[in-house]
Amino acid sequence: MNLFDKVQSLGHEQIVFCNNKKTGLKAIIGIHSTILGPAIGGIRLFPYSCEISAVNDVLRLSKAMTYKSALAGLNLGGGNAVIIGDYSIKSEALFRSFGRYIESLNGRFIGGEDMNTNVEDMNNINLETEWVLGSSTTMGGSGDPSPMTALGVFYGIQACLEVVFGSPNLRGRTIAIQGVGSVGFKLARLLHQSGAKLLYHDISSRNLKRVMESFPGRVIEESYFTTECDVIAPCAIGGVINQRTIPKINAPIIAGAANNQLEEEAIDAQLIKEKGILYATDYAINAGGLISVSEELNGYSQEKTREDVANIFNSIKLIVNLAEREKINTVSAANKIAEQRIAAISTLSGFYL
Ligand code: NAD
Repeated sequence: MNLFDKVQSLGHEQIVFCNNKKTGLKAIIGIHSTILGPAIGGIRLFPYSCEISAVNDVLRLSKAMTYKSALAGLNLGGGNAVIIGDYSIKSEALFRSFGRYIESLNGRFIGGEDMNTNVEDMNNINLETEWVLGSSTTMGGSGDPSPMTALGVFYGIQACLEVVFGSPNLRGRTIAIQGVGSVGFKLARLLHQSGAKLLYHDISSRNLKRVMESFPGRVIEESYFTTECDVIAPCAIGGVINQRTIPKINAPIIAGAANNQLEEEAIDAQLIKEKGILYATDYAINAGGLISVSEELNGYSQEKTREDVANIFNSIKLIVNLAEREKINTVSAANKIAEQRIAAISTLSGFYL
């Protein structure tokens, strides 16, 4: 890989390689853009098969965060960090040593929970730097972001229903949730309370049992994508919407929390549009968690957070309106709104110090 060619083509500002032999820390921080403000993003722990995969992941994730923050209307840029390793390397010292690298960036990068990292890890990072979000509420943080992610998805689903059926009302609508973990379970609660009929698909029988006992619905075994329903809500893993599953989809709306739902973004977004299905762009509808942790920067208020998360309804409507007006798919429309905001603000500010 020619690293500088790749970084230049994606437009990153800075990549930081972090090494601490004593704690076993091997990490990379990617800062894609600080035009709108400090780069915010997750801190992921993952046993990458090779260092190039880790670099590719941090470049991809940090660029995606630039778009997500911009579209959510935050005065924040995009970044991400990856720590190379599995659960066995986790220790207070490892996360504190990583925290010192974040501190050295003096606020240019603000990290939070991501795959395989949790509130306790954020608390350890927080011992060395204030530039970490999502630490526990007892340490002044906003805690688990999944309730706000679920709330944002709930508003996003309502916006899609309004576009397709002329009303956001959920009563009697059938929603099929794939993945009833942290976000999916909380989404099920909100939908159940609003009178929706629920269908569930998950590989975890424990999680299925929990959701069925709390918010009764029907479990779908194999045929998730062919199921007839009003909304398919992927809340499990990425890549589930692809050229194999799109032809099977029997719902007018796809709106869920999962990151990177489309396997091949440009191709799949177009196929979905051509099939007449409304797709709520993943990074727009699942921004509730990001909005929630970012509120910590202004002194966390749950009331303000809920208000800002509710705005996801308008954000989805804005994307759909642009897509309809310009006859483009909803992913292109979301990207266009994010890029326009960054371009406009870049006339005021540039590199964040
Ligand atoms: P989680 O691990 O708590 O739950 C995931 C659920 O999906 C589990 O119940 C798991 O058994 C199930 N699952 C995994 N693979 C599956 C498969 N192949 N088929 C069916 N079910 C499967 O994760 P989460 O925090 O709820 O996040 C869910 C998705 O939302 C992820 O894609 C995540 O990146 C995204 N997301 C989460 C947040 C958040 O605040 N947690 C924020 C933004 C985006």
